[in-house]
Amino acid sequence: MSLPLDPARCRDPLLRPIAEKVAAEERLTPEEGECLYRTDDLISLGQLAAYANERKNGDRVFFSANQHLNPTNVCVLRKTCVFCSFARLQKEDGAYTRTLEEVFEEAGQAEGSPTREFHIVGGLHPKLRLSYYTDMIRGLRDRFPDIHIKALTAVEIAHLARVERTSIRNVLVALQEAGLSTMPGGGAEVFSTAVRATIAERKLTGEEWLRVHRTAHELGIRTNCTMLYGHVETARDRIAHLSALRDLQDETGGFLTYIPLAYHPDHNELGEELGRIGSSTTGFEDLKNIAVGRLFLDNIDHVKTHWPMVTPFMSQVSLSFGCDDVEGTVVYERVYHEAGATTQMHMPYAELVGFIRRAGKRPVERDSLYQAVREDFEDLNHASGDIGPAAGVPVVHAA
Ligand code: SF4
Repeated sequence: MSLPLDPARCRDPLLRPIAEKVAAEERLTPEEGECLYRTDDLISLGQLAAYANERKNGDRVFFSANQHLNPTNVCVLRKTCVFCSFARLQKEDGAYTRTLEEVFEEAGQAEGSPTREFHIVGGLHPKLRLSYYTDMIRGLRDRFPDIHIKALTAVEIAHLARVERTSIRNVLVALQEAGLSTMPGGGAEVFSTAVRATIAERKLTGEEWLRVHRTAHELGIRTNCTMLYGHVETARDRIAHLSALRDLQDETGGFLTYIPLAYHPDHNELGEELGRIGSSTTGFEDLKNIAVGRLFLDNIDHVKTHWPMVTPFMSQVSLSFGCDDVEGTVVYERVYHEAGATTQMHMPYAELVGFIRRAGKRPVERDSLYQAVREDFEDLNHASGDIGPAAGVPVVHAA
């Protein structure tokens, strides 16, 4: 496979030696990573990232038939994670905590749908014990034995270890015995101590986040990794963050996918402080974060776009900028809709397939470990892939 562009033709001359390294499959240095973040030559950057992606994934674009569950939005860090719009204090308007029966009832929508994965994340509730989560996972497994359970961020795991006065490893083992198979990548934000002091003062440190994931990998629990961009971080902070992820991946090989997450400024203190209400990240930044992630994280196979966050439109374009995974059907998305996301909450299966095809790519429905479970969609030939709710499918918007 040869590079789709002559390095000498990159409009930004600083990208030319990097393009040579990408063609030679050489690892990029942090300085080169910073250069990628600073360039305004988005087209050359995108072409390099698309090439790096094609080398790993060909023209396949993965998606999953998944359903998000958020058991509670009550969180002890509500006042200090100033970028978060999802969390509430226990007595605050809009606070909710589901009983297990309510969680099972919501999960019941998976009956008769193609759902293969539950994605479970929520707040750090001061009173919910580890047994609430192990009972939930066991209950879901009993009711839906074929559905994979991806649950709890590193932040929630560390919180449960504190509540139970036990180790991270003990919490993970208990969850794994209950039926947890993989973990999402949330809570990483940006590892820089200075950035965390500004946006998430009391959240676990970057080292602690990495320690939780390292322990999970040691136990055979594959995980995702993320970075929240578009707030107060610098290009150097971003690359230091990606370098730490790349180092851990060299050590354990446990990350499945990297997901750059766009900061949404509505309904949170940070957005007000920065005067950013109503102005989320730009398309330029969204595409750049996908492309840099693909080029810098040479040891992570997949880069995912989260369509509820950046819009399905931007997610579709990102498939030409190094992205090979478009998340999934989701069903209910609360975390970003609380922060002003105006996208639909549910992407119907056929719509996802059409959306990938219309970008000139080959859709592959995957399981949670990226094994292909379906590649033939002939019966969905009618799916237009025009982005928007499919005819007759009710779309639920956040209040
Ligand atoms: S980001 Fe997570 S830990 Fe922080 S307040 Fe929101 S839900 Fe809680």
